[in-house]
Amino acid sequence: MTQQLQELLDSNRRWARKTEARSPGFFTGLLALQAPQYLWIGCADSRVPANELVDLLPGELFVHRNVANLVVHSDLNCLSVIQFATDVLKVKHIIVVGHSRCGGVAAAMNDTSVGLADNWIRHVKDVRNRHRAWLDTVPEARRIDALCELNVIEQALNVCQTTIVDDAWQRDQELVVHGWVYGLHNGLLEDLSMTVAEPADVAPAFERALAYVQSRYAA
Ligand SMILES: [Zn+2]
Repeated sequence: MTQQLQELLDSNRRWARKTEARSPGFFTGLLALQAPQYLWIGCADSRVPANELVDLLPGELFVHRNVANLVVHSDLNCLSVIQFATDVLKVKHIIVVGHSRCGGVAAAMNDTSVGLADNWIRHVKDVRNRHRAWLDTVPEARRIDALCELNVIEQALNVCQTTIVDDAWQRDQELVVHGWVYGLHNGLLEDLSMTVAEPADVAPAFERALAYVQSRYAA
């Protein structure tokens, strides 16, 4: 039975019963359509479950997760999620969510080899290298969390620079890109001030967010 993960299947039955009891017709209602307002791009880390953190139900949050919440310009997986969310679902917000003590970010910061994923984490090392001078001024104990936050604003910048988001803005579609970080130690999300609603604000928003992140780590 353990081989068949019966406990998870049982738990699923209980959850479905509870959800339906609380809100009769919940599942059949979702059959008709999904109309989420938000796309969450987060880390695959099991401690950062998207829906639970913001207390949203199935149908309310479109989600993409990968190691270290990266938005790589040539990653068709992530780009397809962004495209579907933007063009078909017409979400109003795209939120890149990093988290403190991220294992992928820690591996990048410390040049720890983890195998194939080194190639993926290379993108975080690029972020580290771009901000190396400032990171060196941050006390070592806080450097990984500082890089987690820099990585969020860099990835949010990447979202803004996709043809998908730019095209949406060019046709005046309402779409706001955000950068948040989640504290593993307290369960709280923080807005890193990387909030962009139009092409003209991409560069200024990045500068604002960078200054904000740096202020969070000022001695
Ligand atoms: Zn992580």
